[in-house]
Amino acid sequence: MSDTHDDHGHSHGHHHSGSELSEVELRVRALESLLTEKGYLDPAALDEIIDVYENRIGPRNGARVVARAWTDPDYKSRLLEDATAAIADLGYTGRQGEHMVVRENTPEVHNMVVCTLCSCYPWPVLGLPPVWYKSAPYRSRAVIDPRGVLGEFGVTLGAGVEVRVWDSTSEMRYLVLPLRPEGTEGWSADQLADIVTRDSMIGTGIVAAPSGAKS
Ligand code: FE
Repeated sequence: MSDTHDDHGHSHGHHHSGSELSEVELRVRALESLLTEKGYLDPAALDEIIDVYENRIGPRNGARVVARAWTDPDYKSRLLEDATAAIADLGYTGRQGEHMVVRENTPEVHNMVVCTLCSCYPWPVLGLPPVWYKSAPYRSRAVIDPRGVLGEFGVTLGAGVEVRVWDSTSEMRYLVLPLRPEGTEGWSADQLADIVTRDSMIGTGIVAAPSGAKS
């Protein structure tokens, strides 16, 4: 499990080693080993539960926020003005989502989110952070070579597109509002939410045009 930030609430000013396990992580691991040893816990089932929160339930909330913004200009304005409140309107509140900021991608600007010091991530809208988000290479290279990192994720931007990298902290969690793909005119918010990927809301992906759509 990831850093809960219970114990530091960092402002990115203090020493923070990425390889150290926090006390909470150590406790979780010890508990997991004990429960597995006693036969109370099937590690495969646990992995499945984590996968659900990491990949399915969590990012679906963010996808609904994005789809609403794509279909409701007033909502989009409020989202860009005060993301925490606009996201709370859809019922997504809680720990690690108290101070949200949404950055909108445009044809000229692509936004990408990192936490250079640890793993700050907007849990209420994206769930648990993926392993790569917490990895030292992503955390350093996202800042030094964002286009290189994007290339590894299969994202190639035009030379004229500016890449802006946002460093998350416990005070500020970012969500990227990706570009709505062409070929989705007239789609409902539910249909749109289905094609919004987790990575597009971190900025390491884009939302692909639906197959069959001309673009
Ligand atoms: Fe962090």
